[in-house]
Amino acid sequence: MTEIFTGSFTQQEPIPEAGIDAALEVMRHGRLHRYNTIPGEVSQAAHLEQEFAAQTGARYALAVASGGYAMATALRAVGVGPGDRVLSNAFTLAPVPGAIASVGATPVFVGVTEALTIDLDDLAAKADRARVLLLSHMRGHICDMDRLMEICTAAGITVIEDCAHTMGAAWGGVPSGRHGVIGCYSMQTYKHVNSGEGGFLITDDADLAARAIMLSGSYMLYERHLAAPPPEAFETVKYVTPNISGRMDNLRAALLRPQIADLPQQVARWNARYREIEAGLRDTPGLRLIDRPEAEQFVGSSIQFLLLDWSEAAIADVLARCAARGVELKWFGGAEPVAFTSRYDSWRYAPSEPMPASDRVLRGIIDMRVPLTFSLEDCALIARIIRAEVGAVWQAL
Ligand SMILES: *Cc1c(COP(=O)(O)O)cnc(C)c1O
Repeated sequence: MTEIFTGSFTQQEPIPEAGIDAALEVMRHGRLHRYNTIPGEVSQAAHLEQEFAAQTGARYALAVASGGYAMATALRAVGVGPGDRVLSNAFTLAPVPGAIASVGATPVFVGVTEALTIDLDDLAAKADRARVLLLSHMRGHICDMDRLMEICTAAGITVIEDCAHTMGAAWGGVPSGRHGVIGCYSMQTYKHVNSGEGGFLITDDADLAARAIMLSGSYMLYERHLAAPPPEAFETVKYVTPNISGRMDNLRAALLRPQIADLPQQVARWNARYREIEAGLRDTPGLRLIDRPEAEQFVGSSIQFLLLDWSEAAIADVLARCAARGVELKWFGGAEPVAFTSRYDSWRYAPSEPMPASDRVLRGIIDMRVPLTFSLEDCALIARIIRAEVGAVWQAL
């Protein structure tokens, strides 16, 4: 009997009841704007920021409209502007180079290794080309952060972390987003908490926090933030920082607060699913799993493997066979951008040099989402299907 998987790769869990109740309350009183409060009231958005700051150990947190907005705000706050260059990953998703382009800057792409992390040798070689690195922990793979910070500190490079896939993750016990000067997160439906759209920015730097809050559209109401620096930090910043509105609202904040509280348990559930799939794929001929380093505490909300040096036709065959059995795999190597996958050379607004070693890796990356609506049995079944179809194509090669 040929097994078929019938679940959905895009179906997330429902919003926790506590979030739904809190959202209904916000709708009933009608004060959705974060600064629309009555005397003595603290907004849902302000509470949310305080809770996320506490969870990550950051001094300051700002909730905003999207992860892309958080990254653009971080770039502006550290002073990146038109004509500047920003180092960033060649292997990432479109919002990352997009955030760089949105401030008029140009990405300088850094290669990807077979561990699917940023190539630190390539970074060291390009360290003199920009003074800011927008580091994307793409698909939740965290590079050797100690070595990365050494390279960047020595070269005077400011590090901004894109933690869209590492909310709840850590390196060496330090939460992802706490190594660089600013950490950015996304609360978009397909990430680790879900408010449809949304973003966070965290930092310990009072000046950067004040700039980010002003940029996000706080008017002169920044004192209503709980996870913000003291009013003194705004004294000069408030006159020189443009308002580029991208605020979080109370409705989405209400949906998010219980999800932030639940994050550690959700991470454990994701990783149980990840490990189940990984175990089912281990030692499949022709398929290479990605080793997860000791120091990395990851969130297995997606899984990747490499079909390294396989032909395009063979990879397409595996994808089609798996799709026919209900297993949706994505390929990052395609020359044309498809759905959420795209390649550094498909962002034609950003010039790039050829990177043959990275291209070889990109051509082999297969990606699969692991929503929490999958059971462990689903994960075992999915692994059996992939194993069988990769095996069938591999044998025929
Ligand atoms: C989703 C995502 C972001 C942020 O995206 P938004 O949709 O703007 O919240 C940033 N980086 C990566 C790698 C992402 O996948």
